[in-house]
Amino acid sequence: MKPYAQLITSQVFMNRLRNMRLQVRSIPYRMGDTVECPICENHYKAFMPFRYRKNAYCPSCKSLERHRYAYLTLRDRLGFYDAPLKKVLHFAPDTCLSMTVKGNQYIDYLTADNMTSFTNSITDKPDCVMSIDDIQFEKNTFDVVIAIGVLVMVPEDTKAMREVYRVLKPGGYAIFHDPINYKQAYSLSDTSLTKEEKLGLYHGHDQRWYYGVDYADRLQAQGFEVEDDTYAQQIDNKRYGISPNEKIYIARK
Ligand SMILES: [Zn+2]
Repeated sequence: MKPYAQLITSQVFMNRLRNMRLQVRSIPYRMGDTVECPICENHYKAFMPFRYRKNAYCPSCKSLERHRYAYLTLRDRLGFYDAPLKKVLHFAPDTCLSMTVKGNQYIDYLTADNMTSFTNSITDKPDCVMSIDDIQFEKNTFDVVIAIGVLVMVPEDTKAMREVYRVLKPGGYAIFHDPINYKQAYSLSDTSLTKEEKLGLYHGHDQRWYYGVDYADRLQAQGFEVEDDTYAQQIDNKRYGISPNEKIYIARK
């Protein structure tokens, strides 16, 4: 067996093993009907913990709060899954969201990522290997671009915003979601922070940006129209394990 094939096989095996362990650990959470995942429609006593967060992770489809909120926003607020036909580019495609799109007759779907470690069980193998700050498509190509947890990892995030704006058709929209500290007035680049400062922000996760309340302003500065999002307060957020303060940025061209 070639080394690359061996690597893939061992990663597939490890993912299967991890998934089996996850399903065993999830048994106590499955004994109840307090919360519900809108994506896979399974219900639980509570969602499983994820990192430092309780009530976060769906052990069936592996969705987190942001995925469930993005799904509900797309489905109920934007009519994303309904006619008319739309051309969609999804960056860093999380499996739990991409599975809701595949096979939909109204969605002409392309995925992209600049990483190729596609055997990871969380994200899918992308159709195109490319970075969001250098999109290999002509201007005015897509009706919708989805980028959840992507900008936060891009050193030149404003260049990425301009690239998304460029490839969107007039009237199209992008869905952005990133971790934001609403107590912080301005967004900070990781290059401007010491290791100790980073540890105090977002539990020290490895990320390029520490976003503050100017997140929407930064999108608007690149040409987007951005509306403030209070939709999480209008839905049964407790049932879906979503914070009432959760926000998704719908950025229109
Ligand atoms: Zn689920």
